[in-house]
Amino acid sequence: MMSPSLGNNSLTHFDVLIIGSGAGGSAAAEMLTRLGKKVLILEAGSNYFEKLDDPHFENIKTKFSNDEVKMTRRNLIQPDPLTEPRTFRPNAKKIRTFVGDVNHLPKTVGGGSVHADMKTPRFHPDDFKMASYLGEVAGANFADWPIEYDQLEKFYCHMESILGVQGKENATPFDPPRSKPYPMPPGVPMLVGLLGAEGASKLGYHPFPYPTAVNSRPYDGRPACVDCGFCSAYGCPSSAKGSAAVTALRRALLTGRCLLLSETRVQDLLKKGSQIVGVRALDPEGKPVVFEADQYILAASPIEDARLLLLSDPGGSGIGNSNGLVGKNLMFHFQTYAIGIFNRRLHTHRGRAVTHGILDFRGSPRDKTRPLGGIVEIGGEGNPIDEAINYSSSVGIKGRLLKKFMVESPLRDRLMALIMQGEDAPQLTNSVDLDPDYRDIDGLPVARATYKNHHFELSAKKYYSPKLLDVIGAAGAAYGFIAPENKPATSRHIMGTLRFGNDPKTSVCDAQGRLHELDNLYVADGSLFPTSSGLNPTLTIMALASRVAASMVFPNAPERGLPISS
Ligand SMILES: Cc1cc2nc3c(=O)[nH]c(=O)nc-3n(C[C@H](O)[C@H](O)[C@H](O)COP(=O)(O)OP(=O)(O)OC[C@H]3O[C@@H](n4cnc5c(N)ncnc54)[C@H](O)[C@@H]3O)c2cc1C
Ligand code: SF4
Repeated sequence: MMSPSLGNNSLTHFDVLIIGSGAGGSAAAEMLTRLGKKVLILEAGSNYFEKLDDPHFENIKTKFSNDEVKMTRRNLIQPDPLTEPRTFRPNAKKIRTFVGDVNHLPKTVGGGSVHADMKTPRFHPDDFKMASYLGEVAGANFADWPIEYDQLEKFYCHMESILGVQGKENATPFDPPRSKPYPMPPGVPMLVGLLGAEGASKLGYHPFPYPTAVNSRPYDGRPACVDCGFCSAYGCPSSAKGSAAVTALRRALLTGRCLLLSETRVQDLLKKGSQIVGVRALDPEGKPVVFEADQYILAASPIEDARLLLLSDPGGSGIGNSNGLVGKNLMFHFQTYAIGIFNRRLHTHRGRAVTHGILDFRGSPRDKTRPLGGIVEIGGEGNPIDEAINYSSSVGIKGRLLKKFMVESPLRDRLMALIMQGEDAPQLTNSVDLDPDYRDIDGLPVARATYKNHHFELSAKKYYSPKLLDVIGAAGAAYGFIAPENKPATSRHIMGTLRFGNDPKTSVCDAQGRLHELDNLYVADGSLFPTSSGLNPTLTIMALASRVAASMVFPNAPERGLPISS
């Protein structure tokens, strides 16, 4: 049994209380403890790391293994959609059309970063100025970020060094400027990545080794990746993957200035005037407890952050919500799946899930001749139980025929998937509120997502789909097709809901991540994003969280929080 508490149990007074130990919460804790602050982290999920707070890395043990049943069927770290559902509707005319897993992220120490395969590209300078470039887009709500790429660049370097990111400098003509090299070179490529990259090159595109927070060589006391093939949706048994838990969070715990309490579910925040004075939570036994600190950070991910602010003002409009914007502008990346079926085997079960990408379909807001799509991941399908269930549930085959299909494996070992992470236009009508009827296992109203795609991302899909199929053809596929969209969207890239900006009328938080209406409540995750870019968000979430934390200590010069070497 792993201990529900990690870090320094003797701390009694906390400067900052962080809700959530995921990517954003861990990055904020790392920076705050580095700057001498005492930090309490409350995490709703369980702890699957033994001795994460031990200075000797070799003493850390995890409960993770290459076990598809445990991780993807029995949901070891995923919230149970029966006891903690969310609801979904495509527009406000309906009460709901779906109850269950609505873009759930893992609930565990380290959050979604434990489950993710941690592809970590940076956003690009233009991503911070979308409204200036695009102007008015009917029905959408684009805004510039209140900070520019240059103000985040050193925090990108800092997080890349903490996580241990592999990558190749100037691998494409589109790469954003960087002031430091990647901490390590790219690791072993996957066959499916090489074939996809070859196809893209034949057509004049610029494939590249995907920047990823996975060790290509021993780094920071952690071993190199062995390309076990169980990376996306699995915890890494050896911690070669730079999840937030084994990197930023561990560093915070090792300072002796951090206490993490897992299985501690925050229920609401207590407000007095313009101050948060405590949070109410249930401890691992389900007993109510109030925790206090001088300052507070929300880092429970965008849907849960908005839910907590709304839950904290029953009968009212929610904390920090005078302008009605809490929960608004919910964004996911709009994923287009181009599938290629090959006559040859692709060995997609070997490797890190994705080793190569293409940036040519991201487009540029300065170029009005083509839409803004997103980065393309070259991957495939690796899970045999998924494959068996797909066959048996969709076409009803069993017994010998199922066995024959699995040996031939057209939907796993001969399948290449190109996934374009398209930019999702922010819309005021895409939002999170509290479902009026459904409650979770603790009796609290669950989050309801209202979400419909805008022409902006739908037209990008239409424009780039034939080009994605061309790449698949050039890579050698026998045939290909664009997969139907999942409804509701299943993307786990979640952004918006508590947008930051300079104008309190049009944003929830200020440029430092503090709620405009509160003196001591900050946000440190993707909730702050005014726009979504078309690149995987986690590195940007962590760089921004680190900057928010530094600005709590140095409000006018957050970069002063960075170590000299960053
Ligand atoms: C299979 C998979 C693959 C992915 N691959 C990538 C990838 O390659 N690259 C990429 O950029 N992104 C990827 N992602 C997305 C990535 O996981 C998220 O972007 C990232 O984890 C978001 O960070 P966060 O801090 O906002 O939230 P999280 O990491 O989810 O952290 C939030 C934490 O808050 C806790 N919490 C929630 N509510 C409460 C409460 N009431 N009280 C206390 N604690 C609470 C949660 O348990 C959780 O631990 C992937 C996700 C999945 C599921
Ligand atoms: S592929 Fe590498 S980083 Fe991913 S889980 Fe396996 S060993 Fe860990």
